[in-house]
Amino acid sequence: MFDNISTKFSSIMKNLSGKGKITEKNIRDAVEDIKMSLLDADVNLRVVRKFINSTLEEALGEKVLLSVDPGQQFTKIVYDKMVALLGDESGQELKLKGKDTTSVILMMGLQGSGKTTTAHKLALKLTKEGRKVMLVAADLVRPAAITQLQVLGEKVGVRVFTIPGEKNPVKVATEAVKTARHELYDTVIIDTSGRMHLDDTLMKEIQDIAKAVNPDETLFVADAMTGQNAVTIAKEFEEKVGISGVILSKFDSDTRGGAALSLKSVVGKPIKFIGTGEKSEDLEAFHPDRIASRILG
Ligand code: GDP
Repeated sequence: MFDNISTKFSSIMKNLSGKGKITEKNIRDAVEDIKMSLLDADVNLRVVRKFINSTLEEALGEKVLLSVDPGQQFTKIVYDKMVALLGDESGQELKLKGKDTTSVILMMGLQGSGKTTTAHKLALKLTKEGRKVMLVAADLVRPAAITQLQVLGEKVGVRVFTIPGEKNPVKVATEAVKTARHELYDTVIIDTSGRMHLDDTLMKEIQDIAKAVNPDETLFVADAMTGQNAVTIAKEFEEKVGISGVILSKFDSDTRGGAALSLKSVVGKPIKFIGTGEKSEDLEAFHPDRIASRILG
């Protein structure tokens, strides 16, 4: 991810820093090149506009043009804007209650986005942190979803709650939370049904589940490969259900990175984790500063 944009950005920066003195035109040209690179990476138009305008405004200030090393000053501005675009370090942590009570995490997203896989990765991570985790199979739409979660749960040694034959996901979710409290589980992760596209019935279903279990975290899993579509859908989930954080799956794929660069800005919620592979351990905290450094080369 980001290989293309990173190559372009480092060439833009190298070009500027090679000049001893830089002019307003040099800056305008560099910002124009940055704009084209962001558009090529499939970044949301509104996000590009905001990024470009604020970079230009700051870079054209006297501080840059008159500084000893204007190229470096400019790079610093672009880096700071990129970190801000990706989210600052605050809000990355999961907001769960202490271990003396039960916290609920609701997983949401489109079918195929990596929701079920991510649920089990998160279960493993939280188990390693000393929490007692229960996974809940409340995706009753995709026929194989329950078995898939059972297999994944077994792999990481986490109990998977199901109610065989039950057709109502709200019932499964509420019964799971009740059982978890009774059996002293401190964390419940509910896998909900994915959808192929935005669907009113399924949106109502997830709203009903959220209302019934009052989750501590509502995590939207977005497939990095779907680009702008992921951004549009995240916005819809934010409006209808409310998102507390985003997990960007398939970060290991060779995509242009537009979704990653747009999500925080458009949805206004932090990217908390990235999925970096298909294995149970392939879930990492999202660090805006590291990603920004990677992009700037
Ligand atoms: P769901 O329909 O949203 O529950 O999606 P799944 O969890 O079934 O994932 C769909 C496919 O994406 C599966 O083949 C997963 O192995 C794969 N997948 C999920 N997360 C990642 C990731 O971070 N990296 C890669 N390479 N593949 C992933």
